[in-house]
Amino acid sequence: MSLDIVKLAAFAKEQGFIYPGSEIYEGIAGVYDYGPLGVELKRRLADLWWRAMVQLHENIVGLDSAILMHPRVWEASGHVEAFHDPMVDNKVSKKRYRVDTLIEEYAQRLEEKARRETEKKLRKKGAPLHRLEEEVQQQKDFQRAQLLKDRLSQALARKDWAALTSLLQEEQIPCPESGSTEWTPVRQFNLMFSTHLGPLAEEAQEIYLRPETAQGIFVDFPLVLRTGRLKVPFGIAQIGKAFRNEIVARQFIFRMREFEQMEMQFFVQPGTEAYWYEVWKEKRLRWHLHLGLKPELLRFKDHEHLAHYAQAATDIEFAFPFGFRELEGIHSRTDYDLSRHAAFSGKRLEYYDETQAQSYVPYVIETSVGLDRLILAHLSQGYTEEMAPTAEGGEELRIVLKIHPLIAPIQVAVFPLIRKEEFVQKARLLYEELRFFFMSAYEEKDSIGRRYRRYDAKGTPYAITIDGQTLEDETVTIRDRDTLQQVRVPMSQVRAYLGERLEVAHWLRTL
Ligand code: ATP
Repeated sequence: MSLDIVKLAAFAKEQGFIYPGSEIYEGIAGVYDYGPLGVELKRRLADLWWRAMVQLHENIVGLDSAILMHPRVWEASGHVEAFHDPMVDNKVSKKRYRVDTLIEEYAQRLEEKARRETEKKLRKKGAPLHRLEEEVQQQKDFQRAQLLKDRLSQALARKDWAALTSLLQEEQIPCPESGSTEWTPVRQFNLMFSTHLGPLAEEAQEIYLRPETAQGIFVDFPLVLRTGRLKVPFGIAQIGKAFRNEIVARQFIFRMREFEQMEMQFFVQPGTEAYWYEVWKEKRLRWHLHLGLKPELLRFKDHEHLAHYAQAATDIEFAFPFGFRELEGIHSRTDYDLSRHAAFSGKRLEYYDETQAQSYVPYVIETSVGLDRLILAHLSQGYTEEMAPTAEGGEELRIVLKIHPLIAPIQVAVFPLIRKEEFVQKARLLYEELRFFFMSAYEEKDSIGRRYRRYDAKGTPYAITIDGQTLEDETVTIRDRDTLQQVRVPMSQVRAYLGERLEVAHWLRTL
């Protein structure tokens, strides 16, 4: 059963993971805030990325460059000229769409319809279903979908907005909201937010909020090279905010106007880029799998149309509740960025190779993952509704967030079975010790069953209970969130027990 994104957003708000931005003022589209649990999840994911990229690689260093950059940066990078999306308005519903997604989604609906109808026909005839894919190709709707996708990608490749306008008219693409096929002409829309530098708007320079963190890395390349004693191949990694005035910000935190990226630019000798491209594809996929994203929910999707800077590009796609979509991009960017910044700034952005006694402009392999999309992937995969046994021997529905223990916002919860002085005292003592090592919580309110459920929904992997037996023999129970198994462990060994399971070093070692 597919999880509804609206339901997930409601759950995330209720639990304090993610709130709509500026909610008391009716919100602001495409902007979200991270609540007490969300901020923990976000920090942990970012930390595990940083450790895997920077801490584990001798030849990768970190950077934290500014959001505001010189306006020439975005001319050099090609964003002023080319960072556009084509948009269109429906005259009846007054809704605005990105033309490419409008047509792609329409084509997808046609394909699904063709598939459903073919399956029905085959079943009726008693024909084997393995012929479905072959048969579906003969369907009119399916063929129309292919034609639409071809015409769309040709027009996009030529940036031919007039062709897109005719495509909408000729093919009578309807507005998903009103069903109307009356469209305005397709226009282009630059996705960068602009603002003014300096106190007086009239005299000030127009600048942009960065639409990606990568350019900070390219611009600082010569400085990092000078201070870092780095030898090619080497990388520079950065985590930071990026801003895009997306035409339609939708699907919860999948497409935001303010979001966070974790990017790494890996500088290599020209001629070796194909090798490093494969290395980074493999490493990045492994990182996601190692954090528990299921292999069947991840796939590579190579780009058919390459961006202006790219030689090769692939996406790691994740099966979000609305289908497979980009989670991370891996791009072979050639020497495009460094060469452009060299041309625009008049500075040399080269690497001197001592072994060959010559300078060259390195080629770049980029890995770029959206932190918010990563959070959405873990939340949507982890959200589970299941029947679970109650203490009274019955069954009840439990909502449990099955996320990797290392990214759980609260890693361990400590409960006294009942609110009696001797139970409470022991539980507080244990909690006060554990919090030095793990993100811990203490709770004494409500029945033990309700407390377990409450922390299941927060994704807390371990819950410790101080019960009658603890008072006799100093042992406690540790309950596992996913298996519901309880083990009895001496209080003195709780820290070691949790340490084994929550130690980042163990995880890194097996990466
Ligand atoms: P899309 O095609 O979905 O718009 P993109 O190809 O423009 O994405 P990139 O420019 O490759 O994305 O950005 C790298 C990563 O940044 C993406 O893989 C994604 O995880 C994240 N990202 C990009 N745009 C957004 C956004 N509007 N909201 C949240 N994350 C984003």
